[in-house]
Amino acid sequence: MNTAINSNKPDINFICPAMNEGLGIVGFLQALDKQLSPLAKQYTFTVIVIDDGSTDNTAQQVQSYSPDCFALTLCQLTRNFGKEAAIQAGLMHYPAAASIILDTDLQHPLHLIPEMLQHWQAGVLVVEAVKVSRGKEPFWYAWASKVFYKAMQVTGGLALEGQSDYKLLDAKVVQALLDLPERIRFFRGLVQWSGFKSEVLPFEVAARHAGESSWGWLHLLRYSIRNLTAFTSLPLYIITLVGTLMLLFSGLLGVHTLYQWAMGFAVTGFTTVILLLLFIGSMLLVSLGIIGLYVARIYEETKARPLYLVASEWHSKPAVNKTKAG
Ligand code: UDP
Ligand code: MG
Repeated sequence: MNTAINSNKPDINFICPAMNEGLGIVGFLQALDKQLSPLAKQYTFTVIVIDDGSTDNTAQQVQSYSPDCFALTLCQLTRNFGKEAAIQAGLMHYPAAASIILDTDLQHPLHLIPEMLQHWQAGVLVVEAVKVSRGKEPFWYAWASKVFYKAMQVTGGLALEGQSDYKLLDAKVVQALLDLPERIRFFRGLVQWSGFKSEVLPFEVAARHAGESSWGWLHLLRYSIRNLTAFTSLPLYIITLVGTLMLLFSGLLGVHTLYQWAMGFAVTGFTTVILLLLFIGSMLLVSLGIIGLYVARIYEETKARPLYLVASEWHSKPAVNKTKAG
């Protein structure tokens, strides 16, 4: 049975990363208040908005809100560190019996919360909301996500299609994730990797109720490469295999060419030479690039810089949680 820290009601945290959500964040908090009000007798709720370097009035909007059935905390990072870092900051600084990771744009439906909590009370340690439809998004975005998830599945053995960051995690799972020494994190992948028994709740992605998604295609490409290299070294094996096949092929071609020459047929074909050179040259560069991506990861990990820095913290009610260094 899960236990509470400060009262006999279990304490539940909502970790809500927000970047430039000034237009819609008050609407989000209102909707959450409404959703949580029937549950407030059973649980102690704290909503933690992690302001990930917003340049709009997100922070002022959060501070202007007086919640009814939860304590509200605003944790401002010094600049934009990315959603993964914001989630990490929330989990690390604010312990609770269970934590629910929730976007602030209302694309994660709040009506799943009671069911999530029921499963948790029944002893399930991870409750995952999984997208059955991806909602309105550009064609290229949907296509790129498909390619990425397929690559993750084939190379890393992780079935992430439809997965979102909208999850309830028991304190035990949060601790297991925080204990991992790696710094560059892919939250969804790590939760699945951890292998705790989970319950799945399907949902339809609603349209953003305000503002716009901050994921450009370059951002997405960088994110995909980072996550792929974090979970699999298969590309390194692939280039080794391609290199070996090319070695076999060049052996055969060499024998054939020498035989032709010995028989008095000097091989002509300037074009073939040029094509072979171009092919080998590009293969070498691509292979070097792939190795380079892994070296870059090692470099980033060994620098061991903090994932984020906290600029300030604000609480709507007297704070009960303690902050430690990021
Ligand atoms: N977000 C963040 N830092 C970022 C980008 C996004 O904290 O660098 C937050 C954003 O405010 C939102 C959530 O992460 O609450 C999901 O972002 P978004 O809606 O842009 O992504 P999508 O729904 O398209 O995956
Ligand atoms: Mg969104």
